[in-house]
Amino acid sequence: FARLRDGLSQSSSKLTEGITGLFLKRKLDDEALEELEELLITADLGVTTAAKLTASLAKERFGRDVTGEEVRKAFAEDIAEILEPVARPLAIDRAKKPHVVLVVGVNGSGKTTTIGKLAHQWRDEGLKVMIAAGDTFRAAAVEQLKVWGDRTGAPVISRDTGADAAGLAFDALKEAEAAGADVLLIDTAGRLQNKKGLMDELQKIVRVLKKMDPDTPHDTLLVLDATVGQNAHSQVEVFKEMVNVTGLVMTKLDGTAKGGVVVALADRFGLPVHFIGVGETAEDLRPFKAEDFARGLMG
Ligand code: GDP
Repeated sequence: FARLRDGLSQSSSKLTEGITGLFLKRKLDDEALEELEELLITADLGVTTAAKLTASLAKERFGRDVTGEEVRKAFAEDIAEILEPVARPLAIDRAKKPHVVLVVGVNGSGKTTTIGKLAHQWRDEGLKVMIAAGDTFRAAAVEQLKVWGDRTGAPVISRDTGADAAGLAFDALKEAEAAGADVLLIDTAGRLQNKKGLMDELQKIVRVLKKMDPDTPHDTLLVLDATVGQNAHSQVEVFKEMVNVTGLVMTKLDGTAKGGVVVALADRFGLPVHFIGVGETAEDLRPFKAEDFARGLMG
């Protein structure tokens, strides 16, 4: 929790200093509510969620004198309530052999790093993990995955630059089955500049996997960089159109003032948030916990 609190310190100081500045002790009137709503919006909680939070506060305390601390506590409770339904761990089914996890997201969002962290975590839990380097166009991504593979002992299945990603996914699933792997993590390309091309590629990967096993991929994780703030909304929309996104991973929550976007996304899409990234090392991937996050955000 300390790490998360530190990570969210920029988001929370923006909010807490703002709230404290507004409310040393002040009557909760329309003007105060408006200022609070504005503050929540600038902290990336989004218009709808900000309105919902201030309405809930008004319902209980309108016209009363409130302190900043009371306001923060009330918000933290309501935010935890919004986050509770989406804070769901990703359960690996050991019976699957392999449990196939497709990982999607725009370049730079932290896909490769997240895959490395997951491989590390699951290996520590005694699972046999394999990785498919499905971003076949970016040699650097493949190299980076191999470094993680060496670090975690997870075999990385790769092909030459430019090879067909779906073909690679197909081969990787066969290899993972043959090796009795518990988990197969499949990295993918994230060239959103070529949306149609990316959609075709991702859909072909899914089609080919389903041909081998209709239940695969068992999970499709969308990795989102929290520092992009409101842009994360359009990324969710775009990827939901392309594939059946089953859960989110929010990265780079260390040192961003935009952590509030997680609440807005939860409120809007209701997609499970499985993990959050709070740094670049293998240990810096945490299960998403509603109350910890809400408290971290509200100082
Ligand atoms: P990809 O293009 O989606 O595969 O993204 P990468 O995994 O290569 O990540 C892009 C950059 O973000 C790299 O420099 C990572 O080290 C960094 N990164 C990924 N996750 C986190 C995180 O949770 N916190 C921080 N601070 N950096 C991260």
